[in-house]
Amino acid sequence: MFDIADTVPGNYTGLMPDWELIPVPIPEPLWNLSAAQLLGSSSKLWRGIRAEVLAAASNTCQTCGRPVRDGKGLVCDEVWDYQEAGQLNVARLVAMRALCPLCDRSRHPGMAGLISSRIPPYMQLMRVNHWGHAQAEAAVARAWADWQRRSQLVWVLDVVPELLGRWPVLRPLVGQVGEPGDGTRRVALRRAGMPRRS
Ligand SMILES: [Zn+2]
Repeated sequence: MFDIADTVPGNYTGLMPDWELIPVPIPEPLWNLSAAQLLGSSSKLWRGIRAEVLAAASNTCQTCGRPVRDGKGLVCDEVWDYQEAGQLNVARLVAMRALCPLCDRSRHPGMAGLISSRIPPYMQLMRVNHWGHAQAEAAVARAWADWQRRSQLVWVLDVVPELLGRWPVLRPLVGQVGEPGDGTRRVALRRAGMPRRS
């Protein structure tokens, strides 16, 4: 049986050692640059990966622990680690996990929602992490600052060997580049009905 813990490399110092629920809005250069987008979120390949991740999680949200009958509505969350290193910044896919919609919204909020709406996603941060109000507020402020800084950078994508070994179809993600402005253009192209991979 696939153990999701095995997908996290030993030297991983990233976002959530204990599967905490940390808000991490996706930097703009990386919008629409993901495993789900690569494979197509309704494709057989992506649905297969999602099914494996959900089965490994026993159809339970891996942050709040809520079990969901038949996994209905559970999201296959791509856990990306962002390493900022000056010229070459690496966005690395380090794990996949199951999240309920409420946790998913808290984790990848639209920035407008993150700032203006403190319920329910904001409450979910407090509940899941056993945080007080000030801690949740600080995490949201950090997320906003990180997002602004990261959205100004050029990113190259990588995927940890554990995930490539399990799902070789993810290999085309490695080496893809996202520059500021690219994400907005990708979203606009998709809305205009252009091919997903431009
Ligand atoms: Zn949850």
